[in-house]
Amino acid sequence: MESWCRGMGRTILCQHCKSTFDEDILKKKNSMDVCLVCGGSLLGDTETSSHNENLSFGEDIELGENDSFDEDKIDCWWYEIDEPSADKATRGRVHTNCAKCGHFIGSMPYPIARTGDYLLIDSRWDDKCGHCGNEFNNHIISKRPADWVDPRQREMWVKDYKNIPKCPICSSTKIHKISMTNKAASIVTFGIFAAGHVSKTYKCDVCGSKF
Ligand SMILES: [Zn+2]
Ligand SMILES: [Zn+2]
Ligand SMILES: [Zn+2]
Repeated sequence: MESWCRGMGRTILCQHCKSTFDEDILKKKNSMDVCLVCGGSLLGDTETSSHNENLSFGEDIELGENDSFDEDKIDCWWYEIDEPSADKATRGRVHTNCAKCGHFIGSMPYPIARTGDYLLIDSRWDDKCGHCGNEFNNHIISKRPADWVDPRQREMWVKDYKNIPKCPICSSTKIHKISMTNKAASIVTFGIFAAGHVSKTYKCDVCGSKF
């Protein structure tokens, strides 16, 4: 088993959700560019929100007080739009993710206006994220970033990070497999009374526990 050293690499800060990661964990997860928590880019701010200043849905559209093109204030991302049918039998809808936690939040009403990658949803629409509880106050939603990662996939990464064998006594990951030679020797020396010992597979290098 490859040994797992914690705290050896640089610490990487996610600009979006302020999570910090050990560089080695990101390497191990093959996720050097993407935050494991929010799915945001870890490559630093290459895009600024200043180019959003001139965005508008047109003169006729009045925005609510919480409606903003500001990337920091975006509550939802869209990734797919179902157009209304020609006979108006289906009204169309937008499939979205929560911009705070990245989870799927189902569909929203078809936008009342669109400019570029920004959609404006009817201000009567009101909801919050079923995962993180984020309330959707901004009725302007932006296109889901290309570097978005399905949080269910990230949760699997976190889960298998948790599954790395650790010492149950001191939580150290500096453990090693007890060699078969040692096991065989204890059977010879102590016979059947050593059975409990034999079933133990790992020894902790920090506190010396066997488990
Ligand atoms: Zn993040
Ligand atoms: Zn959320
Ligand atoms: Zn230990």
